[in-house]
Amino acid sequence: MVQRHRSIEQLMASLGRLPGIGQKTAERLAYHLLRVPQDEALQLAKAIEAARASVCACSQCFSLDAMDPCAVCADPTRDPLMILVIEDPREVARFEDTGYRGLYHVLGGRISELEGTAPDDLTTQALLLRIRKQSVREVCLATNPDLEGEGTAQWLAEQILPIGVTVTRLARGLPAGSSITQVSKSILCDAIEGRRPLTPGR
Ligand SMILES: [Zn+2]
Repeated sequence: MVQRHRSIEQLMASLGRLPGIGQKTAERLAYHLLRVPQDEALQLAKAIEAARASVCACSQCFSLDAMDPCAVCADPTRDPLMILVIEDPREVARFEDTGYRGLYHVLGGRISELEGTAPDDLTTQALLLRIRKQSVREVCLATNPDLEGEGTAQWLAEQILPIGVTVTRLARGLPAGSSITQVSKSILCDAIEGRRPLTPGR
């Protein structure tokens, strides 16, 4: 049997580490990139390089932007005492569309036993530090309305409530199991508008 070239194997391995890309898809993508004109294939590499060089994670909220602190954290017209906690930096744009004017905190995922993600694998400690240091008024837990998102919100509420800060959760209008990146703007507006306070012991 003819062995595949080592560099093809490496390309497949890199592609296979991307979220949602299985071994078969990684193989298909690798061979696609080797078949298209060299310029086209290298455009992808260049785009990755350029995005990585110009975008960084904000050291306060962990959102992605061209500067640190990010445009939201650096904006003096925003309410610095309100923090919306989200799982993924992509969700910032969704909440910006609703007219939300507070700050964000990007967890970088959710607590998941299945995926082996513990609280310390996320930016939870930085969030707790931020809440303690900045005398925050309200923390709204906007994790996704599915099992792991709810579990993450519950864990966070247990840590934040003893600090003496109001903790809220998005309204129940969000379809259960849906993803914040997919729901419509009006549903998200209602979810923020109708957010409900969480109390200890629930
Ligand atoms: Zn920021």
